Amino acid sequence: MNELELVNRIRRGAGSAAWLTRGIGDDCAVLRAPRGAELLVTTDLFVEERHFRRETASARDLGYRALARALSDIAAMGGTPMAYFVSILVPEWAEKKWLDGFYRGMGAVGEQAGAVLAGGDTTRGEKFVCDVMVLGQTPKGRALRRDGARAGDAIYVSGELGVEARGKRVRFEPRLALGRYLRENRLATACLDVSDGLALDLHRLCVESGVGAELRRPLPVAKGVEEAVALTHGEDYELLFTAPARKMLPASFNGVPLTRIGTVVSGKAGRMTLDGRPLAAKGWDPFR
Ligand SMILES: [Mg+2]
Repeated sequence: MNELELVNRIRRGAGSAAWLTRGIGDDCAVLRAPRGAELLVTTDLFVEERHFRRETASARDLGYRALARALSDIAAMGGTPMAYFVSILVPEWAEKKWLDGFYRGMGAVGEQAGAVLAGGDTTRGEKFVCDVMVLGQTPKGRALRRDGARAGDAIYVSGELGVEARGKRVRFEPRLALGRYLRENRLATACLDVSDGLALDLHRLCVESGVGAELRRPLPVAKGVEEAVALTHGEDYELLFTAPARKMLPASFNGVPLTRIGTVVSGKAGRMTLDGRPLAAKGWDPFR
């Protein structure tokens, strides 16, 4: 397999979209900027032996996960995905079949999300490394940011916490529909996706907003997982958001539970308590 052959294989699987004037095959992708919209851009690294082991999952599942992680960031902003760009380092072991599977897995979740593969780069490497960049959009000024939480707001989280502490789930659903629902109905004052554990990600949201948080049990912890683990394990990919207390939120959205877990309070930014006891901002940190 030479590079041209690899690029042609990848290109065959790439889709098309009305606003994509030119996709793979040129020096740059050309996209028509949506009127009245702002663009969202996120990048995410997916590295062999750091984020995954090839023995533990199929190429398709790993491809799905690599793109789903980045789509989760678009969901957290209440955005609509448009295009994704994938740069990979290809080691000796990754042959045609495996790469086809990986791109098919990305294609599957990309298609569900309405995003098309529009470019990327490839070269040789010692390990498999994949850098996914996703481009999305929201109406101007409407993106769900981390800095809008105000004292008195209710704190919610979708789904269950700590699911991946039970054993690796490879595929998960990025909460794109929920993010858009929150944005369209102006329900959330702040939002992020829980990637590094609720304790650490809530802390980040609080610091950005200049507020504290008081959490109350019971928290929606996955069955068979200790609460302390569920709060710090990470890779939940659920949405954590705040909403004015007077807004009525449904108990679930598309079958995914929405649980009120606490209240935003004024005071020291980032200070958190759980049933009155201090809660430390602990979670996944690759540099620790
Ligand atoms: Mg995120």
